[in-house]
Amino acid sequence: MVCSKCGENNEGTNFCIKCGEKLIILPPGRMFIKVTGILYIIFAFIGFISGGMLLSSLNKLDPLFMYSMEIPLSVFKTITIFSMIAASLQALIGILGVKYCNDLEKTKVLLICVIGLFAMGITSIIITAVYGLLSWVSIFEFVLPILFLVGVLKNLKAIGGLNNLKAKGVN
Ligand SMILES: [Zn+2]
Repeated sequence: MVCSKCGENNEGTNFCIKCGEKLIILPPGRMFIKVTGILYIIFAFIGFISGGMLLSSLNKLDPLFMYSMEIPLSVFKTITIFSMIAASLQALIGILGVKYCNDLEKTKVLLICVIGLFAMGITSIIITAVYGLLSWVSIFEFVLPILFLVGVLKNLKAIGGLNNLKAKGVN
């Protein structure tokens, strides 16, 4: 394996024979996880700020205007609060993704994160469907989870490959 520090090509060792650097396999899915992680942090931040602004402005609305709205105010508030909670979780998962994307040993943690992301997406779709607000835009709920999943699956495959090598007695 080529040393990331000095470029020495090492065979069958865990540490570089030239400089002693620990040889690690860079997870193949790291870019997927890192980019989606960063996007999650950005979107969560925007979602949290806009949700907070929306909630504070809702309390100041003219009652007559509120009557004219198609969606009841309580429903609007519930959805906004739910999306803010979801944004907090997405920010957390985004941070974990950025932190752990280079560490194959943390792939299982990231897999749990992916399951969480899909669970949130499905919950969000159920809530919007219940209130009759479902539209084709809801499909976008799953774009980032799928990209995150692709990265995690690539890493899982790399772990599988490593385990195969170990089973065959190759270091
Ligand atoms: Zn080296």
